[in-house]
Order: sequence, then C-alpha cells, then structure tokens
Amino acid sequence: MTRVVQKFGGTSMGSPERIQHAADIVERSVQAGVQTAVVVSAMSGETNRLIGMARSLCSEPDKREMDQLVSTGEQVSASLLAIELQRRGVAAHSYTGVQAGFRTEGSYSRARIRSVECDRLFTRMSGGEVPILTGFQGVNEAGDVTTLGRGGSDTSAVALAIALKADVCDIYTDVDGVYTTDPRIVAQARKIERISYEEMLEMASQGAKVLQNRSVELAMRYAMPIHLRSSFVDVPGTLVTREDEAMERAAITGVAYNRDEAKITIKGIPDHPGIASSVFGPIAEAELNVDVIVQNVSEDGTTDITFTVPRGDYAQALRVLQQVCDDMQARQVKGDDTVAKVSIIGVGMRSHSGVASQMFATLADKGINIQMITTSEIKITVVIEEKHVDAAVQALHTTFGLNAGAV
Ligand code: ASP
Ligand code: MG
Repeated sequence: MTRVVQKFGGTSMGSPERIQHAADIVERSVQAGVQTAVVVSAMSGETNRLIGMARSLCSEPDKREMDQLVSTGEQVSASLLAIELQRRGVAAHSYTGVQAGFRTEGSYSRARIRSVECDRLFTRMSGGEVPILTGFQGVNEAGDVTTLGRGGSDTSAVALAIALKADVCDIYTDVDGVYTTDPRIVAQARKIERISYEEMLEMASQGAKVLQNRSVELAMRYAMPIHLRSSFVDVPGTLVTREDEAMERAAITGVAYNRDEAKITIKGIPDHPGIASSVFGPIAEAELNVDVIVQNVSEDGTTDITFTVPRGDYAQALRVLQQVCDDMQARQVKGDDTVAKVSIIGVGMRSHSGVASQMFATLADKGINIQMITTSEIKITVVIEEKHVDAAVQALHTTFGLNAGAV
C-alpha cells in the first residue's frame, strides 16, 4: 500500500476556498487508496501578522511567548482543513506538534527536531484516518512549544514522512517545480523533472528558495524523495531524490544567481602564517557570513585577500575590516556592493570535463569580466558586476543546452 505525506504551504492554505482545494487533493489521494497524512503551514501572511502584533506591544518580546504565539497560525489552518474534510465524510483530525510527538531541542524560534514519536498518528492513519499535523513546531524537554525557524513546515513534513515510513513527501506550493533557471530572466527555462538532493541544496543556497534547506538535508540523510509540485495545477512537479545515472548525462542541471552580494578586499597585508586567521577571526566574531574567498600570491612580502558577504552585512564588514587593516598595518581596505554571483550546478560535472572552460569562454564572449571564481565538485561560481547578471545567466543557459526545445 502506498503511503504519502502531503504538505500544503501558506498560499495553498490562504483562504477557505484554497483550503477546499487542498481538501480536494487530500480526498482524491484517500479515494485512490493511498494512506495519507498531511502537514500544513499557517495561512499566508499569518505568521508575519502574529509577529507584527507582538512587536507592536514590545520591541523584544519573550522568546517562549513568541513560539507559543506563532505556533497558533498552523493550528488554525490544520483544524480548518480537518473541518472541511470531515464535512465531506473523510475521517480526519488535526494534531499539534505537541500532540503528534515532535520532540525538539535547541533555542526557541529555531529549534531542531530530535525525535518524532508518532505512534498515535501512525495508528490513526493505519485505521483509515487522515492525520493533519501543524507544521513548524514541536515541544522541548521542558514541555514548552518551540518553532523550527521560518519555512519550518517543510522540515516537519519531511520528518513526518520519515517517521511514518512514507513512500514520498509531496510538497504542494505555489510554484510547479524547480526550474533550470529563473524564468523571469530566461523565458525558455525548463522545469527539472528530477534533481539530486545535493543539486537542490546548491540551487537553494544560490537564491532559488523553494524549500527550507534543512528539509532537503533531512530528506537526503534518510533518502526520502520529495515531490515538489503545484497545488493549483495538477501536473508532475520536480522530484528531489537520490542521484542516478540519468542525472549525470547532462553536464549542467541549472544556472543560479544571487544579487545579494558585496565584496571586500584588504590589500598589502604583511604576509606571514596566521594572517587569514587574523582577518577572518574578527569577521566570525561579528557573526558575519563570508562566502567566496580569494587570496593572492604574495609579492614584495605582502598579499591581498578578497571575499564576499551578503549585502546586508556589507557596512558592518567594512568597519570590522578597517579595524583589522589598522591593527595589521595593511595598506588599504576597498569594497564594492554592486557585485553578484552566478553559478552553474550539476552532478554531471563530475563526469564531464571542460565545463569550467566552457563557462569562462561563454562569459568572455559576452564581454563579462570575472572578478572571482570558486568551485566545488558540482558547482562553479563566478563573481561578476551585478549589471551583467541577466546576460550571463541567459548565455550560460544557452551554452549548456538548457533552453526548452534544445536537446
Ligand atoms: N508559518 C511558518 C512561516 O511562515 C512556517 C512555514 O510556513 O513553513 O515561516
Ligand atoms: Mg515555505
């Protein structure tokens, strides 16, 4: 017998009409004889509304109370869906994270799931009921409600699918899958039928956020397939799954970009062991996230280090670096917050050679200057001027044969 966990996001729960539509999907699954459990997000905008209300009272509300508060959004949508399913004669009940045995550890507002003790849900589901779980929440050792971080319902859904030994975790959302690149930049972008967990993580870290990253990491660890699909159009979406040979056939699976980047260079640092640590220690202390790092070969006993940070951290990073520069008697700190990252991603890179040179030649053809380069086994990233992002993405999408209709 097939067993699925279906997760409905905020837009799919956004109004009573949308909830009826989600109920259609659940009902169809039950009628097809599939054992079905459901995880829901709060109605779209609801979590923000709750946070806003608390902040209107107090600029730094108590963390325990915040989790207690925001976890209610999911309770509303879960019980509304249960009410609608019952009206149709489908056996269904809603359960909070606490009732469903989602035990967590770690801080309020970003707790991690420690275990799922879902015997009760399992029994109900085996008896033909549809259990509906409130996503995004659990209960800590003290018995208090905790939440899993924004977008956490995806992770709840994958965790439930693993605990119930489901065949697949269907994530219904407002997009119909993962695309080879952003369709707003490339009209011929194609929906990817199958993508590996690793590729999905790389696409997401490059700004293509559809699933909470933790949900993909969790699915990868337990090899739980995720089917990301639209709740509005009934077509197959993208299957996020284990890497297979078919995936390696193409050199590149997708082109991703991120405009939210800035770069900082510290020049003329006296070159001796420990300088990288002296530069990045203070940056880490300030809790700034560094990404691409390049250090030059030293000339005349000094060297340069350049790295990127999210644009929101730029001003602070510059201040920290200026201090480092003074302390180390380096020559100068320079910054630029009009840069962006463009990446090509694909497990096929492991078995195709020449991918990097093809990428660089394509950008050269377009007169796009590459400022920094970094690579991993399945990704090559370049830092370029932000104004070239569209042209770079379009050219790379064509070069690697990703356009719809191309073979
Ligand atoms: N409602 C929560 C949020 O808005 C969790 C989720 O939607 O996944 O972040
Ligand atoms: Mg979401």
